[in-house]
Amino acid sequence: AEGINKIKPEYLRSFQFESKLMLSTWIVVRIDGCHFHRFCEDNGFQKPNDEQALNLMNSCAVSLLEMFKDIIFAYGVSDEYSFVLKKESLLYQRRPSEIVSAIVSLFSAMYVMKWKEFFPEKEFKEPPYFDGRSICYPSSEILRDYLAWRQVDCHINNQYNTCFWLLVKSGKSRTEAQISLKGTQTQEKNELLAQFDIDYNALPIMFRMGSSVFQDKDELTGNDEVVVEHCNIIDTSFWKEHPRILD
Ligand code: ATP
Ligand code: ATP
Ligand code: MG
Ligand code: MG
Ligand code: MG
Repeated sequence: AEGINKIKPEYLRSFQFESKLMLSTWIVVRIDGCHFHRFCEDNGFQKPNDEQALNLMNSCAVSLLEMFKDIIFAYGVSDEYSFVLKKESLLYQRRPSEIVSAIVSLFSAMYVMKWKEFFPEKEFKEPPYFDGRSICYPSSEILRDYLAWRQVDCHINNQYNTCFWLLVKSGKSRTEAQISLKGTQTQEKNELLAQFDIDYNALPIMFRMGSSVFQDKDELTGNDEVVVEHCNIIDTSFWKEHPRILD
C-alpha cells in the first residue's frame, strides 16, 4: 500500500521521449508486407503479378484514405504502400509511433477483413502483417522525387520479374533464370521479352505503373470520392492535372 502511492503518472510519463515529426513537412508512411515472398507462395499468388492481390492492397488503401482524411495521396506497388499526409496534418500531434502504428494496424486489419472478398476460396494459414516507417519531406518537389523513386522501382522490378518468370515457366530453374538475368540492361531484357513475343508496354498498366489513390471529383455525381488510377506520376503532367493534391 505504501509502494502504490509512489506510482505517480507524471513521473512515469516523464520517461517518454519522442520527437514530433517536423511541422509543415509532408509525412510519408510507407508500409511493407512482412515475408510476403513466403506469404505469396503459401497462398499461390500468380507470378510475377497476382492481380487480385494487388486489387486487395488497393482496396485497403482506399479504406485508409476514407478513414484518415489527412492522407491526401497514396502510391502502391507489390506488397508496399506509401501514404502521404498533408503538410498541415496534426494527426496524433505528429507523434511518429502513433501515426505509423495506427496506419499499419488499420491496413493489416483491412487486409484480413477484405481477404474473402478477393480470395473467396482461399484461407491463409499464416497471418499477413506489415511493418511501417515515417519520413518527412520538406518540399513538394522532393516529395514528388520520392514518389518517382517508388514508381521507377516498380518498373525495374516488374521488368525483371516478368523476364525471370518467363524463363522459369519455359523450363529453367530459378537459379538458372537468376544467373542468365544477372547484370542485364533494359535493352537485353527487351530482347528477351521479344523472343517470347511479349510487348512490355502491352502488359496490364497496373503492373507497369503501380496504383495511385487520391480524392477526385466523380464525373457523374460531382461528389468527391477516393479513386484508384494507374498513371505516370513521374511526369509533371499528372501533378498539373491534379493541382489540389499537393496545392
Ligand atoms: P520483407 O519482410 O523484408 O519485406 P518480403 O518477402 O516481403 O520481405 P519484399 O522485398 O517486400 O520481400 O518483396 C515482396 C515479395 O512479394 C516479392 O517477392 C514480390 O514478388 C511478392 N509479391 C508482392 N505482391 C505480389 C503480387 N501481387 N503478386 C505476386 N507476387 C507479389
Ligand atoms: P483512443 O483512440 O484515444 O485510445 P478510446 O476510445 O480507445 O480512444 P481509451 O482511453 O483507450 O479510449 O479507452 C478504451 C475504452 O474502451 C474505454 O471506454 C474502456 O472502458 C473500453 N474498453 C476497453 N476494453 C474493454 C472491455 N474489455 N470491456 C469493456 N470496455 C472496454
Ligand atoms: Mg520490409
Ligand atoms: Mg515485404
Ligand atoms: Mg516490398
